[in-house]
Amino acid sequence: MGEAKRKIFVISGPSGCGKNTVYDELKKRIPDVQQTVSATTREKREGETDGIDYYFIPKEEFLKKIEKGEFVEYVRYGNNYYGTLKSEIKRLADEGKTVILIIEVNGAANIKRLLPDAVSVFITPPSFDELTKRIVGRGTNSAEDIKKRIEIAKEEMRFKDMYDYCVVNDRLEDCVDRISKIIKGATEK
Ligand code: 5GP
Repeated sequence: MGEAKRKIFVISGPSGCGKNTVYDELKKRIPDVQQTVSATTREKREGETDGIDYYFIPKEEFLKKIEKGEFVEYVRYGNNYYGTLKSEIKRLADEGKTVILIIEVNGAANIKRLLPDAVSVFITPPSFDELTKRIVGRGTNSAEDIKKRIEIAKEEMRFKDMYDYCVVNDRLEDCVDRISKIIKGATEK
């Protein structure tokens, strides 16, 4: 029996498409999958924990890490920076995890350029109205932030054809089913 193939998965989708819920469900079904913890300069939201949801760092520290080449990819999104640390991918790969990056579209494009073997999945909301409702309904962002996120979401939807797979998150179960199959298919070959 050969060792299962190591693959990196990149998941994107506009803010409010439900990608974090999809990830939580995926993890229940495939315990080996592990999301990288990104570094960000954005404010911590209620219920988030440093080192678990993100490494929350000040902008100066983020810029220093860029200079030192510590990121495999990073972007400016809204008024904040987000990035995946090289050390983070290595840490999870060393633990034998199936590494998943849940990042926005520009970061995903950079990863695909650097690691063409990475499998990319775009999650779309059932409709744009539904997406707007979810972003507003979350209630954790300021009015200005909400406006910006809706604008970015519109832009992000234009990237969906660039991905290996595009999955609609209408019924959560169905969406998780499809992505589980994609992951299993790519790792168990
Ligand atoms: P949020 O502020 O809602 O947590 O994240 C905003 C967006 O940034 C989401 O689309 C999220 O997937 C993306 N994101 C989070 N971490 C990273 C990262 O390390 N790199 C990139 N390119 N995007 C990220």
